[in-house]
Amino acid sequence: MAKLSHQTFKPNKNEKTECFCALCRSPRVIRYSRRLMVRHYFQILTLGFVFTAATYSWFAWNGVAALPIIWIIFESTHKSLYRKDLKCPFCGFDPTWYKKDVKLARRKVEEFLKQNPESPVMHRGRQSKENSQSLRQ
Ligand SMILES: [Zn+2]
Repeated sequence: MAKLSHQTFKPNKNEKTECFCALCRSPRVIRYSRRLMVRHYFQILTLGFVFTAATYSWFAWNGVAALPIIWIIFESTHKSLYRKDLKCPFCGFDPTWYKKDVKLARRKVEEFLKQNPESPVMHRGRQSKENSQSLRQ
């Protein structure tokens, strides 16, 4: 069960990955890749180029200095989108937290279910109970 984290996701052509939540077994679609794709680097370069061109009359080629800043913003935005995407919308299970701290991941799922009593996971009864017990280990 624990092995079903983002390591097992295989990106396909559409960059969408279909999988099942490791905890509640709900079908999931992951839209964001873990790392930036080639086209993202092109987007960063294009943005850097546009910025340099737009500010050329003030900074001349110094506008190129914005490129690493654009890169950092782009990458951190992508990472947070990926993290958000990875978290299960049905039970709040986050494989990234699970890898770092199982107890914390468990607490986050409990908090999520407390805040979302309407979650379909809550109505599955026995199955989700068994799963949360195996999460305890
Ligand atoms: Zn789930």
